[in-house]
Amino acid sequence: MSLVLPVPAGASVLVTRPGPRVAETVHALAAQGVRPVVRPDATTSDAVHAQLRDLAARGLLTLDPQADADGADVVVRDPHGPVADGTPESTEPPARVGRVTLVGGGPGDPGLLTVAGLAAVERADVLVCDRLAPLAALERARPDAEVVHVGKIPRGAFTPQEAIDALLVDRAARGLDVVRLKGGDSFVFGRGGEEWNACVRHGIPVTVVPGVTSAVAAPALAGIPVTHRALTQGFVVVSGHVGPGDPRSAVDWGALARSGLTLVVLMGNATLGETAAELVRHGMSPDTPAACVAEGSLPGQRTVRATLAGLAEAALAAGVGPPAVTVVGAVVDALEQRP
Ligand code: SAH
Repeated sequence: MSLVLPVPAGASVLVTRPGPRVAETVHALAAQGVRPVVRPDATTSDAVHAQLRDLAARGLLTLDPQADADGADVVVRDPHGPVADGTPESTEPPARVGRVTLVGGGPGDPGLLTVAGLAAVERADVLVCDRLAPLAALERARPDAEVVHVGKIPRGAFTPQEAIDALLVDRAARGLDVVRLKGGDSFVFGRGGEEWNACVRHGIPVTVVPGVTSAVAAPALAGIPVTHRALTQGFVVVSGHVGPGDPRSAVDWGALARSGLTLVVLMGNATLGETAAELVRHGMSPDTPAACVAEGSLPGQRTVRATLAGLAEAALAAGVGPPAVTVVGAVVDALEQRP
């Protein structure tokens, strides 16, 4: 059921009264090619302000507290109700044991959610969603479904993993059909394994619907194949969350530099310069083709191509920030450019 009506092509849209689920509204509009103006007001909470700033920084909306309704073709009062407070009304003992489905939602465009993933979203009693999940797909959720956003805004509020695990177990133990909707694939830096283990330890049936990982999809959407015959015989996906100089880093960057494989780095924006320097120090050519693909599949998708040595600066200059995937290797230049 769509809460956000189809908007005429080319119309300017103003969203008023943004609530705790405004990200769903904004993503539903983005899926229609619309970047709305959102007008916060005195009723807007700090948590919603933080979400709005994050969505604005990602190019999904324009914030304007002074926006005039007369200036917009369509005015949408944010249609989603408040987030449930987490206390189901009934204290009846569970009639059945529910289940948890870990759904990999793909890189963000709802079109890249699998058919099985969408079916799970449509039948769910409870949806527990990440910030980078395809939130526009929630338009297809049941109107009475409980939706809980647990996504972490960088440097902002987040729900600790233990609390997410507990929420999944609690709702399923009440007999509910729970979908954990994530970005990309749940088992690629998605903490899906931790949630799986929490369910199994509590006797909750758990299944996984694999997703289209951004590690492959974001490069593909930018015209970069992660393998290409005669150029590379494989690819490595690695987290750049902690840089090579960090004592917590367990990655052998020297081995990667010598591997001859395409390197795909996730969560690596902040450590990009450091990582490139480390690869060069271990013998990788500073001229190796490299690219950063941000917001893959979403309206703000952007690509920056440079040499390995120049990528961090080029990304900074172009304002390309997270979420982004970095690709290093000859594959970056493998495809003929379309006219
Ligand atoms: N499970 C996810 C990855 C989670 S880690 C997957 O399989 O895709 C989060 C990182 O994924 C981000 O920091 C970024 O590196 C990458 N990412 C997720 N969505 C992205 C997108 N739409 N475009 C580019 N990178 C993305």
